[in-house]
Amino acid sequence: MIYFSARPITLQQVDTKQYESLRKFRGRFSKNALREDYKDVQQFRTLFTRQLAQTVNANFTGLRAHDRARDDGQGELERARSRRRREQETEEARYRRNQIRNERDAERARYRKVNTVGGATVWEFASEPHHYACPTCWDTSIMMLQPQSAMSGEFYCPRCKTSYPIGPMQPLPPETARRSPNAWG
Ligand SMILES: [Zn+2]
Repeated sequence: MIYFSARPITLQQVDTKQYESLRKFRGRFSKNALREDYKDVQQFRTLFTRQLAQTVNANFTGLRAHDRARDDGQGELERARSRRRREQETEEARYRRNQIRNERDAERARYRKVNTVGGATVWEFASEPHHYACPTCWDTSIMMLQPQSAMSGEFYCPRCKTSYPIGPMQPLPPETARRSPNAWG
């Protein structure tokens, strides 16, 4: 906004050259759009206060809308990011679970269920070092059975304390025995 004083003055006070320049300058602003004329300070104050409020309100509202739009945009972006993060975490968790399961399966695949000489049904490791695993604990973990005493043929699980009459340990298949002559310690 530009304000022009329309205050009455005496002609003697007027520098005609300057007044002509001012008139041209004033003519460049159409009335009501950008230009206001005021007769005295009181009117100037009223006009200026009202128009300032209107201008600020218009622009401020615009800014607020802009801020909201920007915040919405950022919120959307942030939501998309955390969604992707959650997806990645889920993927990783799934991958880890699969890995653990595969490892467990691979480990369990090396055992076979056997009926021992002593009459127990246990899991026998198919490789070296030769040992038996507790069938009671099998679903939770692979627990290696421990001999109760040197030659009794009685084994027990250190976890669930179940005893298994396995009987005298059978020698390993010949090819395994050859590869590990000290397997029986
Ligand atoms: Zn057990």
